[in-house]
Amino acid sequence: MTLWTLGSINADYAYRVPRLPAPGETLAAEGLMRGLGGKGANLSVAAARAAARVVHVGAVGPDGRWAVERLMEYGVDVRHVAEVGEVTGHAVIAVAPDGENSILIWPGANAAIPEAVRDAPLAEARVGDRAVAQNETNGQGGWLATAKRMGLSTAYVAAPFDPQAVGAVLDVLDLLILNAVEAEQLEAALGRRVGDLGVRDVLVTMGAEGCRWHGAEGERSFPAPKVEVVDTTGAGDTFAGYVLAGLDRGLPMVQAIGQAQVAAALMVARRGTADAIPDLKEVQDARL
Ligand code: ATP
Repeated sequence: MTLWTLGSINADYAYRVPRLPAPGETLAAEGLMRGLGGKGANLSVAAARAAARVVHVGAVGPDGRWAVERLMEYGVDVRHVAEVGEVTGHAVIAVAPDGENSILIWPGANAAIPEAVRDAPLAEARVGDRAVAQNETNGQGGWLATAKRMGLSTAYVAAPFDPQAVGAVLDVLDLLILNAVEAEQLEAALGRRVGDLGVRDVLVTMGAEGCRWHGAEGERSFPAPKVEVVDTTGAGDTFAGYVLAGLDRGLPMVQAIGQAQVAAALMVARRGTADAIPDLKEVQDARL
């Protein structure tokens, strides 16, 4: 089957700085690294590395062709990534010597995906395909509702967190993925436990502690493999991409979670984002 991702594509500009700039200060950076980022793109790359057939739906500006090429090199189908008249979404990241960082994000083209670009691809989808969105694009609610109506299995990664955005998609969701802080905030905002949202499966990730699955048979916890942490950026996206790819390959949820936790653990033990996501063989061979 196919995983359809409506998701952000960002250019991540990581500047090495002697310290984080103070208000009003102008500071020269000592190094620059440009990479592919955005939660949607990371998720698509993770699912493709996990051997899923992935079609990414999204938009970049004329300055973002390299990012689309990078996605393609990772095996993601980019036929439905449009070029629009906005600048490509980007993150300006300042990283101090102690690893402390500050990040500025501009959504750009991610927030200007035309309706036709969003909805047209779903006409190619088949019943039983999966659709996943996160909160870094425009139009996720309508897109997931259309996908659900067309017989796709729907998933939402609730990041960056906004309780209203989650509330707006709950009725059409089969799977919700969020981290522990987001789960607490959602419970406070809705006055309901995450297991009582009417969503068939809810996965709550808890960093080094692993994750929790709220499903038809109740709640179950899964400890994460123990690893030495180097860089946790993108752990959540890797986890989500691997879970969705696993389910798409027909794995039961327990096994999909197992692979996702190994993939995310391998990833946090390395530096980098998209390029640090392990492929399925590495995950299957890992002894953690
Ligand atoms: P991020 O925003 O950094 O991408 P997140 O807050 O969305 O992450 P987390 O709960 O931090 O998500 O992590 C997602 C999954 O990654 C966890 O469920 C776990 O499997 C794995 N993971 C994260 N941190 C660690 C760690 N220190 N050791 C082992 N596994 C980890």
